[in-house]
Amino acid sequence: MSMLDKLERKLAKKRIPLGVTFEVTKKCNLDCIHCYVDHFDIEKELTIEEQKDIIDQLYDMGVVYITFSGGELFTKKGVWELFEHTRSKKMGFKIITSATTLTKSDMDRLKELGILEVGISIYSHKNEIHDLVTRKQGSLKKSLAAAKYLGEIGVVTVSKTIIMTLNKNDIIDIYNTVKSIKMIPTFDLTIIDAENNVRNSKKYALSQNEIYELFKNEEIEKILLDNKSVEESYCGIKKDFKDEDSRCNIARGAMWIDSKGYVYPCLVYPEPIGYLKENSLNEIWYESQEVKEILELVKYKNYKACHTCKAKQYCDPCIALTKLENRKDSCNSASYKRGFATKQIIDETSKKAIIKS
Ligand code: SF4
Ligand code: SF4
Repeated sequence: MSMLDKLERKLAKKRIPLGVTFEVTKKCNLDCIHCYVDHFDIEKELTIEEQKDIIDQLYDMGVVYITFSGGELFTKKGVWELFEHTRSKKMGFKIITSATTLTKSDMDRLKELGILEVGISIYSHKNEIHDLVTRKQGSLKKSLAAAKYLGEIGVVTVSKTIIMTLNKNDIIDIYNTVKSIKMIPTFDLTIIDAENNVRNSKKYALSQNEIYELFKNEEIEKILLDNKSVEESYCGIKKDFKDEDSRCNIARGAMWIDSKGYVYPCLVYPEPIGYLKENSLNEIWYESQEVKEILELVKYKNYKACHTCKAKQYCDPCIALTKLENRKDSCNSASYKRGFATKQIIDETSKKAIIKS
C-alpha cells in the first residue's frame, strides 16, 4: 500500500477527505453536449474572498489537496489567487480544465506553483468528433497542444474521456494519442444527467449491449480495466458485502463544493447537505442531519435490491445515481448496464474455459 493510500485510510476513519473538488464557476467557454453543469446559472456565485475563506476551512479540517473545477475555471477572474492561497497553506492542488485558453506562460506558472495534476477532457483523436462534443471548433487542437506542453515541462496530465455513443469506436486511438504526449489515460462510461435537463445528455449513454460489445474486444477491455476512471478511485467502491459496511466514499472521503457555496457529500449526489453562507464546513460535515442519513443509507444492508442481484459481484452501485433517477430501490441504470454487461462477458469466458478443459 502506498503512503498516500495509508494517509487516505487514516483520514477516512475521521471522515476527512484527502482531496476535495471545488467548483470555481459554472461558466464555461465550451458547451459540451453531455455536460451536467448549467453554464448560465452564475447568479450568487461566491467571490474569490469567500472561496479563499472556504480554502481556510478545508485546511483547518485537514484536507490535503483541492481539485479546482468548473465550468471552465479559467473564466473566473482571480482564479490564480485561489491557487496561490492554497499553496500558501501548504496544501496541494489539481485542476480540471479544457486547457483551451492556457498560454505557455500560464502553464509555466502552474508548474512553478507546484500543481499536482492537470485533468483535460479528450473526447476523440479526431477533430470532428471532439469538436462536435465540445461544440467549439479547434478545441481538440488547443487541448492537445496544451497537454503536450505541460508534459514537456514535467506537469502530470490526465486525459478524461467519457465514453458515449459518438466516440465509442475511438477508444484505442484516444489511448494511443494521449499516451504519445505523456498523458495518463482515464475512461468513464457514466454520463450524469443534466441538472436542468437542458442537454438531455442521457441519450449519448451506451446501452448494455454496446458496453458488452466494447468489453468483448480484448484490446479495449484491457485499456478500460487497466485505466480506471478517476471517479473510480475517488468513489472508493468496495466489494464488501457486510451489512454495516459503507459501499463507497460518500460523505466520508468524497466532498464537492459548488460555485455558490453548497456542499455535497460527493461529486454526483444531487442534493446539498449544507450551505457555506449559513453554516461552517465543520458544522455541515460533522453535524448535519442530512450527512447522518446518507452515512446510514450507504451501508450495504440498505442496498436491498442488490442483495439478491445476479450482477452484484460485478457491479458498482451508486446511491447518488440512484437518487438522480428518483429510484426507490438501490439500483440505477448506469450501474445495472455495466454490471450485467460485465457478468455476461465473465459468464462466457468461464464457459469457454470449461469447454477447453
Ligand atoms: S445491477 Fe443494480 S441491483 Fe444489481 S448489484 Fe448493481 S446496483 Fe445492485
Ligand atoms: S455515491 Fe456514487 S458517485 Fe458518490 S462516492 Fe458513492 S459511488 Fe461515487
